[in-house]
Amino acid sequence: MQLDSLLIHGGIDGDAATGAVNVPIYQTSTYRQTGLGETPVWEYSRTGNPTRTALEKLLADLEEGSHGLAFASGMAAVTTVLSLFQQGDKLLLSSNVYGGTFRVLDKVFKNFGITYEIIDTTDLSSLPEKLTPDVKAVLIESPANPLLTVTDIAAVSALSHEHGKLVIVDNTFMTPYLQRPLSLGADIVIHSGTKYLGGHSDVISGFVVVKDPALADRLYFLQNSTGGVLGPFDSFLMLRGIKTLGLRMDRHTFNAQVIARWLEIHPSVKHVYYPGLERDPGYAIQQKQASGAGGMISFELHADYDADRFFRSLRLVTLAESLGGVESLVCHPATMTHAAIPEEIRKKVGITDRLIRLSVGIESVQDIQADLEQAIQASGKAQV
Ligand SMILES: *Cc1c(COP(=O)(O)O)cnc(C)c1O
Repeated sequence: MQLDSLLIHGGIDGDAATGAVNVPIYQTSTYRQTGLGETPVWEYSRTGNPTRTALEKLLADLEEGSHGLAFASGMAAVTTVLSLFQQGDKLLLSSNVYGGTFRVLDKVFKNFGITYEIIDTTDLSSLPEKLTPDVKAVLIESPANPLLTVTDIAAVSALSHEHGKLVIVDNTFMTPYLQRPLSLGADIVIHSGTKYLGGHSDVISGFVVVKDPALADRLYFLQNSTGGVLGPFDSFLMLRGIKTLGLRMDRHTFNAQVIARWLEIHPSVKHVYYPGLERDPGYAIQQKQASGAGGMISFELHADYDADRFFRSLRLVTLAESLGGVESLVCHPATMTHAAIPEEIRKKVGITDRLIRLSVGIESVQDIQADLEQAIQASGKAQV
């Protein structure tokens, strides 16, 4: 089946018991057992729930994996994956990762003796020497948050596998509609389903997808043991949202291309980060490994523009954390999504105080552009 059809018919298509075209919401914590000594298919909803299972099978189909696992948040998914590791293990981390992923490693897993090192995965020449025996995995995002830097997933996977390391890719920004890391060689895909997969800014959820059954068993054990599962109603909302993922991603990508091209030549704009622009350093690899550059853009206004006044002047585009919903959102990574990253690391990787991250929604692109333009004009010092 083609991806567009899988979005609608993948996983478990409808309800076998009644013929309902949608998987019902099995709002139950437990299941009746007929007697002792049997191993029922369903026994307790942390361990398994039919609505969640339908969603997990759908994610496995979409990511071209064998097993999917659904969690109560993206961070619950990240935490479960990090629970694969032990005291003394080290992870390599690409230099732009989601602030919460950095925070859980730096403030939680470090206390359990799991360490990390931040590396620049856009240049792989130094990767082999970093793959020391204590390193167990490489965790990357591509395009990464918030500077949209692109990492060659196939090349990182090949190099890491030569040294026996796991490759973990957070695919939140792309979704399986645009990029399928397992097929590029990665071992584990993570998602914040809160973003594009859900798509309507109304559910917090997360996913892990793998292609190796032994790794799936270990992760399923951890999911059931640590318990951060997605509830049945939220699983239903995710199944509902994913049906329109293709239509939404096409429109997000189209709108973002238009906005990025306009910002690129805008006299008030210092720099635009978007791997769909030909002069972007990640353009060629993005073209090779994904079928679009997605809906996220970051940019900087010139120094004589006031970022706070820019945010306060917006009318249609909303200042908020999160991304990937139908509505356009902006944020200020230095004080919002990436505030957990110490200032010196932020500066080093290029997350300046003037950086603005834009999640381009699926509204009329003329309206998005007009709102950004009036806010840019209102934030220029010359206008005061
Ligand atoms: C939002 C986000 C997360 C965390 O997901 P939650 O659903 O907020 O817990 C992880 N990775 C990326 C890239 C994200 O954007």
